[in-house]
Amino acid sequence: ATPTSIMVGTGRAAETGILFKGGEHLERTHQINTVVLDKTGTITKGKPEVTDFIGNEKTLQLLASAEKGSEHPLAGAIVAYAEENGIEFLDVEDFKAIPGYGIEASIDGNHILVGNRKLMNNHQINIDGYEEKLVEFETNGKTAMLIAINGEYSGTIAVADTIKETAPEAIKQLKEMGIEVVMLTGDNERTAQAIAKQAGIDQVIAQVLPEEKAEKVKQLQAQGKKVAMVGDGVNDAPALVTADIGIAIGTGTEVAIEAADITILGGELLLIPKAIKISHATIRNIK
Ligand code: ADP
Ligand code: MG
Repeated sequence: ATPTSIMVGTGRAAETGILFKGGEHLERTHQINTVVLDKTGTITKGKPEVTDFIGNEKTLQLLASAEKGSEHPLAGAIVAYAEENGIEFLDVEDFKAIPGYGIEASIDGNHILVGNRKLMNNHQINIDGYEEKLVEFETNGKTAMLIAINGEYSGTIAVADTIKETAPEAIKQLKEMGIEVVMLTGDNERTAQAIAKQAGIDQVIAQVLPEEKAEKVKQLQAQGKKVAMVGDGVNDAPALVTADIGIAIGTGTEVAIEAADITILGGELLLIPKAIKISHATIRNIK
């Protein structure tokens, strides 16, 4: 590889919003045959909104007050919804985020849990009878969270996040280039499948705990695949480092951008096939 052609390649890429950290990354991108994408904030816009709430006003008040302590996009959606509904927020005595599961808080002597089925199971909360509604939300691509107050089921809240307009086209282009496309998410299987279908992705790895994302990338590499990982979150950073090429979404967290080899400006997914095409063109010129 001549330094000049690499410089021309990275320069061309930069003009379109693809920032390579170094020339060697442009060369390595050429070998990629599998692209793994995080769901929330990468395939979706990362701006979830509450679509459904089942529960009374007191439950919403405790739920929203508890979520005020969380930095998760799901929490932002719940807090905004409560504000729109004129809910008064209460002081939180104790707050704990449980990555991959949800949150736990104490408010006014009440114990509050918000999160997925696994969180409820871990706390022996009986959620029999609420499953049907949960499945209905998830089948529609919504993320549904259960609420328990003082050890009892107390409500369900569903949130939806829309896919980026150009996601289906970007996925289509990758597939046409013979590249395998995989979605990786901490969200549940059913929601993940619904979103994947909208984006045109047929391989889904769901319910992955934050610390397991890098492990999943390693497993694909062990099958001989050359993997590019695309992500935006703090959770994605170890997987971005582990992958042969890490691609950060420019609108994502600083941590992800630092961990990655490439940053795509504005989170435009069409820049992923574009980056691979530029690397191919550059290597062709060299040979
Ligand atoms: P993702 O990869 O989609 O960002 P996470 O690992 O962050 O997923 O979260 C996985 C699941 O944990 C969520 O789908 C949700 O059910 C639950 N969860 C995480 N954070 C919260 C929160 N602040 N409130 C309620 N539930 C949460
Ligand atoms: Mg994300």
